[in-house]
Amino acid sequence: MSKIIKISLVIFLIIIILLFSLYNKNYLQLHFLDVGQGDAILIRTPQGQNILIDGGADNLLLHRLGESMPWWDGTIDYLVISHYHADHMMGLMELLNKYKVKNILVTAHQPDDFLFSVWQKSLEKYSLQATIVFAGDSWQLAEDLSMQVISADSQHEDYNDNSLVLKLKYKNISVLLTGDLPSVEEVGLLHNGFDLSSEILKVAHHGSKYSSSLEFLQAVRPKLCIIQSGINNKFNHPHPETLERLSQVDCQVLRNDLEGIITILSDGQTWWSV
Ligand SMILES: [Zn+2]
Repeated sequence: MSKIIKISLVIFLIIIILLFSLYNKNYLQLHFLDVGQGDAILIRTPQGQNILIDGGADNLLLHRLGESMPWWDGTIDYLVISHYHADHMMGLMELLNKYKVKNILVTAHQPDDFLFSVWQKSLEKYSLQATIVFAGDSWQLAEDLSMQVISADSQHEDYNDNSLVLKLKYKNISVLLTGDLPSVEEVGLLHNGFDLSSEILKVAHHGSKYSSSLEFLQAVRPKLCIIQSGINNKFNHPHPETLERLSQVDCQVLRNDLEGIITILSDGQTWWSV
């Protein structure tokens, strides 16, 4: 290859990298990844940090991350596991082989099952230790960007009941991420004193009718509701009753089973989908 071609290639690559890093800069990026029936949400902060909430049920996660992150970025700053069901964490097994994961946030729930023991072995392999979080814990990710744990129970038998609930706040826009929390546990959230109001809501449990009670939705008052459900999933998520309740609170619904990947940008004052 001639010297001129090599130099041109390097210049071309530098321009591409610069364009990519300038694009969407200063915006909070929310990527609700299309991983079939399961949850996986990549949040890219205006400062370039990557936060991954759950990892779906299989290696589709890695493909989706590859599509939403620049190729030179191999770091997940925060990995949050809402709970230890396969549709939220199977995809994470391979993640550790490909990405450098700096912090792992989990509840104190340590189930006695095969999946959890395999996960623990993966953590050991990479000398990683998960941080157990509690309701009220918060992180100031930047001057105007914070993340707070709203719920992190660990005592329930049903894994869904222990879902880690997280609220992200960027200037005037909040995002509530609810894992698979059922309505019986939403009641607790309504009385624990946290401000639940959020413009954007990740609808709990893929739109199951056993989550997202009207009382809860009225407290959150979401404007945009994202449902992470897979095409033709065997649970028939989302349930028509849930969709009806979302319409009762005038929430615009976007679904992964209908839209594929859902990407939302926010400047901290408003948000839009791209
Ligand atoms: Zn689930």
